[in-house]
Amino acid sequence: MVSAKIYYDNDADLALLNDKTIVFLGFGNQGAAQAQNLRDSGIPNEAIIVANRPDSYAEDAKSRGFNVEYDFAKAAKAADVVFLLIPDQVQPRVFNEQFVPNLKDSTTIVIASGYNVFFKLLNFKPSQDVVMVAPRMIGSSVRSLYQKGKGFPCFVSAEQDGSGNALATALALSKGIGATKAGAIASSAKEETAMDLFAEQALWPNIIVLFREAFSVLKEAGCSDEALCYEMWMSKEPAEIFERAAEDGFITQLKHHSTVSQYGQLKGALQLDGSATRAHFKDILYNQVLNGKFCKEFSQIEADLEKQDATNPLEQLYAEHSKSELAQAEQRVRSRLQGLL
Ligand code: NDP
Repeated sequence: MVSAKIYYDNDADLALLNDKTIVFLGFGNQGAAQAQNLRDSGIPNEAIIVANRPDSYAEDAKSRGFNVEYDFAKAAKAADVVFLLIPDQVQPRVFNEQFVPNLKDSTTIVIASGYNVFFKLLNFKPSQDVVMVAPRMIGSSVRSLYQKGKGFPCFVSAEQDGSGNALATALALSKGIGATKAGAIASSAKEETAMDLFAEQALWPNIIVLFREAFSVLKEAGCSDEALCYEMWMSKEPAEIFERAAEDGFITQLKHHSTVSQYGQLKGALQLDGSATRAHFKDILYNQVLNGKFCKEFSQIEADLEKQDATNPLEQLYAEHSKSELAQAEQRVRSRLQGLL
């Protein structure tokens, strides 16, 4: 049995952050939320610098009273702690080129996603601490739950312990942004990346395919587009089921359904042989995610886009998906039934 340690407020000491200059590289979803939470936890405003290019994100930070630095080299030189809160795909270029040459040997680098550290795309000095404080929530929830006095799920780890005190710093930062209130779960960049990419590349693609094929089978059996769209997702029933699963239990939530539904789901799931799915999932995990195949492919796409000699493959992928029966029907239904949505 693998059970993870969970850290609470009592395990963390905010005093470790005294007299430290804390730089937030990025003031987007996570940056804006975490910087505000940290300040509201008592870190003085003058100890916080938001490093951002001069644009609307910078203006937002300024309007909230933060000191904004456009010059990344200057921000890096001042940083005792730097939170990397810009999109994962731009982190290697921005951090390695503009921060790394200017950081102190003792700066703590904080990541909110394991991807770039697990795939070794960021450069660190051995003397630096590298810690992961990765909320499992979108930024607006990180902020609103903090304001309500609640915590939020978060993964924490020390990926490189240059100071010998990296985990304690990670916990202090977790407490500062409000993550240890509900319990921060000990994890690692590897675990976080494996689960994240697996969900994105194995679990959810299968769910998309299940819905797509179910739609076609029921349509062929005579069901209308309108009825299918509402029955399958527009009613928000799947969202409610997942909400109940989070609250009551993955299987226990079934008790909210009719007896016919409970019997059908419980019996049906037991009758399915999951061995082909398991083999497919293992293939994605080991031969696409953990071996770096996906990372290599995605880095190449980023490099091509950077050189501006490539079209964004996302557009092509969206275009392919828009051809399915489900997508075509949904488009027709949405244009007819706006009032019901
Ligand atoms: P955002 O997309 O919200 O980041 C926007 C910020 O990044 C802005 O400040 C923007 O400023 C800056 N930025 C974007 N491009 C560049 C660039 N080329 N150079 C410099 N700055 C840039 O990011 P998120 O908050 O979504 O993600 C940040 C980290 O948090 C990631 O590691 C992500 O995996 C992780 N995370 C995100 C979650 C989420 O809910 N979104 C949940 C948990 C973790 P400007 O454009 O002005 O430069």
